Amino acid sequence: MYFCDTHTHSRLSPDSDAPLEAMTQQAAALGLQVLYVTDHCDLVNGRGHPVDRFDWPAALAQLRRARAQVPELELRLGLELGSAIYNPTIARTILAQAGDHLDFVLGSLHNWLWERDNIDLYYTDFTGDPDLARRCLDRCLEHTWTLVTQCPDCYDSLAHIIYPLRYLRRDGHPLSLAEYEDRVRAIFTQVASTGHALEVNTCRGQDLADWPVLLDWYKSCGGEYVTLGSDAHRPQDLAKGIREAVAMVDAAGFRYLTTYEKRRPVPHKL
Ligand SMILES: [Zn+2]
Ligand SMILES: [Zn+2]
Repeated sequence: MYFCDTHTHSRLSPDSDAPLEAMTQQAAALGLQVLYVTDHCDLVNGRGHPVDRFDWPAALAQLRRARAQVPELELRLGLELGSAIYNPTIARTILAQAGDHLDFVLGSLHNWLWERDNIDLYYTDFTGDPDLARRCLDRCLEHTWTLVTQCPDCYDSLAHIIYPLRYLRRDGHPLSLAEYEDRVRAIFTQVASTGHALEVNTCRGQDLADWPVLLDWYKSCGGEYVTLGSDAHRPQDLAKGIREAVAMVDAAGFRYLTTYEKRRPVPHKL
């Protein structure tokens, strides 16, 4: 089995305090073949304030240190670029600043955009408000469609399309993407036809049940590239759910997993 984790965070992310060296040591101990560090760069932060930069010098410095400390591990530089559609010009500037150090970009959406003060969905209380819950899903799919149609250069793999479900379910709305199948399929068709990847995000091993049907839809929409990430923000969560995710990808009929080098897909037999 090809054992990789292409979605992880270090203390360069606002919601992690893990030194990259601790993540890489754990990755080596687990036997991961490749680890991607994909720290957050959200163009609006959790509280909705615009962001126009990423600290690439700090990212490169910690990458060099971690590579020197755990040379047996293949460690690659990625970025979780959130809300690129909020300001595509800034998104493209930030990506260009990384030069050829950057191997991989996850395209994320964590926030309301152009409403509700642009805050992260995490901070919205959906309790007792089914209309708000549906509005949230509707908006997330609309913004994801905008990303894949208008900013295809701002992502390589479409990250955690089920992100809003985490907080809708937390607040008592047991929704799925089943009743949005047509819109999700349209997104997947666009992802596939433009040569991009779909991420299976295990959310530290907690979100596994949604993926088999989504992988089936993606495959029937022409999907070929799949990336796997645990979204670990601390060493003890690294690679959680990855083995189960590999089994799901296999069961859905995909023959390989994908990683990225210099933002180009590299297939690996399952
Ligand atoms: Zn995310
Ligand atoms: Zn993440």
